[in-house]
Amino acid sequence: MSTVSVKHHQMFIDGKDVDAPQAFEIRSPATEELVCTIAKGSVEHADAAVESARRAFESGVWSRKPKEERAAIMKRIADRFGEELEELIELETMANGATVRQATGFHCGLAAPHMLYFAEQAESYEFERAIPTKAYPTHSVNTIIREPVGVCAAIVPWNFPLVLGLWKIGPALAAGNSIVVKPDEKTPLSLLRAAQIAYEEGVPAGVFNIVTGDGAEVGARLASHPDVDKVAFTGSTAIGREIMRLASGTVKKVSLELGGKGGVVMMPDADLSYSIDGALFGCMLYSGQICESGTRLFVHKDKYDEVVAKLVERASTIKLGDPTDYDTDMGPVVSARQRDRILGYLDQAKADGATFALGGGAPEGPEFEKGYWIAPTIITNVTNDMQIAREEIFGPVLVVIPYDSIDHAVELVNDSEYGLTAGVWSTDYEAASELAARLRAGTVWINNWHMVDPSLPFGGYKQSGVGRELGPDALNEYTEAKHVHLDLAGRHDRLPFDLLISTPLPE
Ligand code: NAD
Repeated sequence: MSTVSVKHHQMFIDGKDVDAPQAFEIRSPATEELVCTIAKGSVEHADAAVESARRAFESGVWSRKPKEERAAIMKRIADRFGEELEELIELETMANGATVRQATGFHCGLAAPHMLYFAEQAESYEFERAIPTKAYPTHSVNTIIREPVGVCAAIVPWNFPLVLGLWKIGPALAAGNSIVVKPDEKTPLSLLRAAQIAYEEGVPAGVFNIVTGDGAEVGARLASHPDVDKVAFTGSTAIGREIMRLASGTVKKVSLELGGKGGVVMMPDADLSYSIDGALFGCMLYSGQICESGTRLFVHKDKYDEVVAKLVERASTIKLGDPTDYDTDMGPVVSARQRDRILGYLDQAKADGATFALGGGAPEGPEFEKGYWIAPTIITNVTNDMQIAREEIFGPVLVVIPYDSIDHAVELVNDSEYGLTAGVWSTDYEAASELAARLRAGTVWINNWHMVDPSLPFGGYKQSGVGRELGPDALNEYTEAKHVHLDLAGRHDRLPFDLLISTPLPE
């Protein structure tokens, strides 16, 4: 297809559209058709964006704007996300292949409420707190002030570009920072639109910039840039380690949301009338390309065969197809690379002796000849030490492993280098809560999954990350705490200077 007929998108730097000599092609994951081109930014563009962000920050045009005004602008941005939901869905799904149903409820539907939460935080966050002090050694007034860190960089993946971007942009703006965002090269469209909307609603030029470019070039430059104060990243654990290393050169603040291998315990008393669909929902939503998915299902040995049979029966009804059709349950995976990566994991699982109770490769049919497809896959005869049970597959792939006792289930769930999410299916709420307390993960869902709420913290134990996004403390990651001490003693003999100079000044 000729590139003449498709739209070209530029970057957004210093309040302006900025083009680059080279371009990326964005192809539909469902059809492989060219849908648009994007400016391919370079290190120079990253530097220009950081310079603009720094200038805006130092000018005080946003960083010293009264918090009520920042909040009002952010609320208007949230409204626009609601008003332009359909356009955002189209921009997001043409590049990442999410079904329109998922994008409405999740990928883009969450944008407005999440932005609204941060708009409210801009007003309600405790930017200043007076601490009562004793009059010893001297009488003083002490204040803790939370100030914006300065210039933030956000490096965002392709699975939920808009929402995962807003988890960084929202608190950064609420606290008064400037930000440079680097979306994944495959999926920058919804974030580019978000930056334009923000500018139109009154976020000053330079405060919110988008640079599109390769991770290893533009992303790495932002993570190591001497004038970036904080870097926030969501993506693979391997690149997360690299971001940490790059940021260490100038001791930047770092927050990382990385991989997961969510362990789920189906207790013997689980109500299968909803837990079976729940386990599939937890693992296979958006073709399993979610870091917080529940991908290892541990089932009591007495219930194992029944649960596997029901999982296969229900997963067989998941309808793959055109993601723009509201009746489609599951779309493609994001790229040929991602599909091949998943197929590689499935080959290895087979070689390791696992059995495919369902799926195990690409679906068959003429409609799947183009695009990047993986059929819902359920794997049995698998142990927790196999690669398929240890590494993040990022596909619609569920491993089902039997356990003997609750202690055994806890051991299996916690035997992972990851600790992002875990879950329990049970009708005994007390037992489920006791079990939840023993699972080493940042979020534990009991009898549900994917319940991400902007007012509740999200992040990982172990190698799933550093720091927390969302929740009442989200702005802590985007502010520095400053202690200001105002001494009220006002008399030499009451001040502790005699620790150094024992005789006061003669009168
Ligand atoms: P990735 O970690 O390579 O990419 C995430 C982001 O990091 C993208 O914006 C990318 O451009 C950028 N990036 C890549 N290399 C970089 C570097 N050297 N310096 C700075 N930034 C860099 O993820 P991927 O390759 O797209 O996917 C691979 C696997 O990662 C997936 O199969 C999945 O297991 C995992 N993943 C996890 C998440 C998540 O939400 N935690 C998201 C996407 C991918």
